[in-house]
Amino acid sequence: MDIIPNQLPQIQPLTSAWAAPIAIDMLRLDEVHPVVSGNKWYKLKENIKATLAEGKEGLLTFGGAYSNHLVATAAAAHSFGMQSVGLVRGLYAAENPTKTLVDCVAYGMKLIFVSKEEYSKKEEKEYLNSWQEQFPNYYIVPEGGANQYGRQGVAQLAELISKEYTHICVSVGTGTTMAGVIDGVGAATQVLGYAPMKGGAYLKEVIGNWVNTNNWQLFDDWHFGGFGKHSQELVDFMNTFYTSNKVPLDMVYTGKMMYGVKKQLELGYFPTSAKVLAIHTGGLQGNSTIATRLVY
Ligand SMILES: *Cc1c(COP(=O)(O)O)cnc(C)c1O
Repeated sequence: MDIIPNQLPQIQPLTSAWAAPIAIDMLRLDEVHPVVSGNKWYKLKENIKATLAEGKEGLLTFGGAYSNHLVATAAAAHSFGMQSVGLVRGLYAAENPTKTLVDCVAYGMKLIFVSKEEYSKKEEKEYLNSWQEQFPNYYIVPEGGANQYGRQGVAQLAELISKEYTHICVSVGTGTTMAGVIDGVGAATQVLGYAPMKGGAYLKEVIGNWVNTNNWQLFDDWHFGGFGKHSQELVDFMNTFYTSNKVPLDMVYTGKMMYGVKKQLELGYFPTSAKVLAIHTGGLQGNSTIATRLVY
């Protein structure tokens, strides 16, 4: 089962001018699908399989007004002929819907707006039970696809990843993708995670609870002031990266990750024998607000 027909993601070497003194390749998950882009399909695929296997009619999930996960769920459900319901964080989002939410509706997702206080209960059993009662025939997927099936789907990416890589770099939101990669690649490879939000250190505990090995590290230094926040320096960096490598980065996740990798290169973090694979998790639609400042 795949939403990405006959297309394996490409692995593209970054130029030696950019990656010196080591070799870095990029796994271009951003190219796999125009909407269910990047890591989102991998987190959804086993959830969708389970929904179909249990004979349920749709998926119910959670997200903010800019959530890539929400629109990916809407598009994926639509392409498998399933229903979808999105619980959206914040009542204000209903009055002035973002492009993400408009796209969700176009894929047939029923949006239900809840207050931020209510949304914060999204992992509580009782709260989830109340939604399950209202939508008995729906499979509930947590925010960001952060469940066992999400990690299992991501772990399958390891089939694309050669054993010669010493380090895998990935950006982190819920940590589901990073945990899946850690499970998938085996303990001989270091997995490095880059948190794009302020106070991202809490994710160490979250990820630690999901994985059984300690071949990983989480960095939270390169958040540029918080989730979704950016400076001219970051935008300039993304433009330079594109000019060197012809790879577009997004400002929320992968731009900050590659900025961190560049800093680590400058600091001599990687041994010269390192062979690094950076995972491009997509998210390019998130660049719409800075589109006029980008060279791509
Ligand atoms: C959603 C997203 C992430 C975060 O993935 P998690 O599995 O929640 O950690 C990273 N990068 C991009 C581009 C995303 O859209």
